[in-house]
Amino acid sequence: MCKTDLKFMALAAGRTPHFTTIADFSSGNCDEMTSLFHKVLMICCQSGLVGKEHFAIDGCKLPSDASKEWSGKHKDLKKKSDKMKTSAQKIIDKHLANDSDKDPNSGDKRRELQTIDTLLKNADKIDEFLKNNEVKMGKGRRPSEVNSNITDNDSTKMTTSKGTIQGYNCQTAADELHQVVIYAEAVGVGSDQSALKPMIEGIRKNLSADVLDGGVLVTADTGYSSVINMENLYAEGINSVVPDNQFRQRDERIAGSETYQKHKELRKKTRNDKLKSDATAIPSSEFFVDIDAKTCVCPNGKQMMFQGDHFKGTRGNHIRFRGKISDCQSCPMQSRCMKKPIKDQGRQVSFYADYIETDSCLKLINKRIDSEQGRKDYGRRMWTIEPVLWKHNQQ
Ligand code: SF4
Repeated sequence: MCKTDLKFMALAAGRTPHFTTIADFSSGNCDEMTSLFHKVLMICCQSGLVGKEHFAIDGCKLPSDASKEWSGKHKDLKKKSDKMKTSAQKIIDKHLANDSDKDPNSGDKRRELQTIDTLLKNADKIDEFLKNNEVKMGKGRRPSEVNSNITDNDSTKMTTSKGTIQGYNCQTAADELHQVVIYAEAVGVGSDQSALKPMIEGIRKNLSADVLDGGVLVTADTGYSSVINMENLYAEGINSVVPDNQFRQRDERIAGSETYQKHKELRKKTRNDKLKSDATAIPSSEFFVDIDAKTCVCPNGKQMMFQGDHFKGTRGNHIRFRGKISDCQSCPMQSRCMKKPIKDQGRQVSFYADYIETDSCLKLINKRIDSEQGRKDYGRRMWTIEPVLWKHNQQ
């Protein structure tokens, strides 16, 4: 860029620094960069380049300068280190056995000594990392351990359309008027869901606390949709369109289209989840539950058995019901209702105690997404954020 792009040539004063010099410069001046970005953003606002009517959020996954081979959970890394030490010991033992009849300066022996040295150094590197770093936890509803990385522990291993990479999920929020970037953050989490809240907070931080009040639109694609995100957006009164992954199926204009069906089949194959997606159960929202009376009727009109309301979930207690085995065995809807062929138990279904509140919130959000205005608003997402990320997505 410093050789071909006028803007970069001017910024670099005609010099062509190595990319590591630029990387060192930017990583060593994070605070100054943040402040500079904010000043430029303020100038854009004063110049009328930021409309503040619609913000779109999206992310792109970029590789970092870290090796995915040095990734793993702590117990896997410990295994890797032990394996290296065992391999080194095996070569040492072989040496001891053959010591008498081998020239110590022979090429073979030198190579083997080098291998021992590399194996032990790498094992030490892993041990040192394990000693100084805590187990890395995910950000889901039930956080569990995720892969750490020895060379860059802030990055993460992610699956992209171009294969698995070790890198960062670069989140960006842009304004619709001139696609000015309002807030951006590189996170070491592959899923977009956990990034929605920080991105909304980032827009407020960089513009103003009330910038999303008064019906300002926020859009993001299906990757950002989750029950918790929907509840938060609803509770904060943000005018948002973040469709769930069923919204195309609910859209009769798209669901019947040949192109959509072809695309769906192709996605099933490429994601290697044919079995999983074929085995979708009827969702709990199609069961008729009365939380107060502790009763539930299934889509086939059968009364289900109450199993208790003490089951702990991350969002509070939930109440559980199970279909009678005799009802489910003879049910014509059984193959659609249950993911696996019936064995010794009927269909189980559970609801959160605050089901009615959550359900009405989700229904209202889906109604907005499925409305004509909702679809029009969602269409604005594409031309706002895609041009911003286009260049990165080409890499
Ligand atoms: S499989 Fe059981 S729970 Fe499901 S609809 Fe049939 S009877 Fe009801």
